[in-house]
Amino acid sequence: MRCVWDDIVGQARVADFLRTAVVTDRLAHALLFVGPPGAGKKTAAKALACAIFCDDDGCGACPVCYRVRHGGHPDVHIVEPEGTAGYMVEQVRDLTRDVHLAPAEGSIKVYIVESADLFNDSSANAFLKTLEEPPADVVFILLAHAFDSVLPTIVSRCQVVRFRRIPPSEATALLVQQTGTDEQRAGAALAAAGGVVARARDFLESSDRRAARDLILRTLTDLDVMDDLDVLEAAKSLLVAVRAPLDGVKAAHEAEIKEQADFLGKGALKSLEDRQRRELTAREREGVAEVLNVAESWLRDCLVLGQGVADLVVNTDVSDAMERVAAVITPPASAVALEAVNEARRRISYNVSPQLAIEAMLFDIREVLRCPR
Ligand SMILES: [Zn+2]
Repeated sequence: MRCVWDDIVGQARVADFLRTAVVTDRLAHALLFVGPPGAGKKTAAKALACAIFCDDDGCGACPVCYRVRHGGHPDVHIVEPEGTAGYMVEQVRDLTRDVHLAPAEGSIKVYIVESADLFNDSSANAFLKTLEEPPADVVFILLAHAFDSVLPTIVSRCQVVRFRRIPPSEATALLVQQTGTDEQRAGAALAAAGGVVARARDFLESSDRRAARDLILRTLTDLDVMDDLDVLEAAKSLLVAVRAPLDGVKAAHEAEIKEQADFLGKGALKSLEDRQRRELTAREREGVAEVLNVAESWLRDCLVLGQGVADLVVNTDVSDAMERVAAVITPPASAVALEAVNEARRRISYNVSPQLAIEAMLFDIREVLRCPR
């Protein structure tokens, strides 16, 4: 079993810095992880949280590490903006109230705050005091793509940890080296995993997740000849495929409940069930995100193939099936189809059901594929 620090791939300086901070007990109470998408900031934030909670500084093998990694630890909170334009004052007030509550299990709480660049002056103001002087048992890990886009008042209260951009060729090489897979499979896995090496590694190890990839690729290939009912069925099947890897998780959850039921009080049992529900939701979201990533990379592949740059195709295992679309799709049409994928991401982040979001995306892409100019 690999330790959690191995999850931080291609960012040796970051991994060393964080590990030293944890081991020497000198971790700042507020960190700002800055780096481009795919640099592995969220994965690193989870690895750090594992190391904070694990008795063995992030062994990667114990139940605590498992729960933090998979979104099932009650004292690790992932915070995302709830407003359409970012964090709202009301959400931040709720957050700062929550921060002052005692941890559910351990002696510490970790808040992973995504999109730290989406605070405006008012919501930042509501947050600053807590960020500056959080309760002793709280660690904030803020994530942002670019340093300049975060308000200076937030930056100045955080220890900044910079993540470098991992060039795709290096990410592929790392993945090949770590898993022994070939370059083509590595490239496709990275596309599904949004460029994050650690997630691509998990993807390659899961036949269920690879099956979900195959299904969205088949759906896209046939999409222009599908009728409405076919599209609805396809969206449903995709969700079934995304949920397939969850069966094992559910079985483990049931076993856990069975084992604990006689020992836990009502309250503890309920919090166990809540935690398990959170883990399932987090895993489903990751699976849906992978399907959307694959759709995005397929659309890009069709475009570059059509432009005669076959070298840039990522999903080389299906390039033959792309030829028909590649021959006719124009850059503006591609842009419309890619926007449909982004719209699906947005909808899901606003809590639209994944199935509805995927249905809408498939209908929009079908429009483009039927009239790709
Ligand atoms: Zn551990």
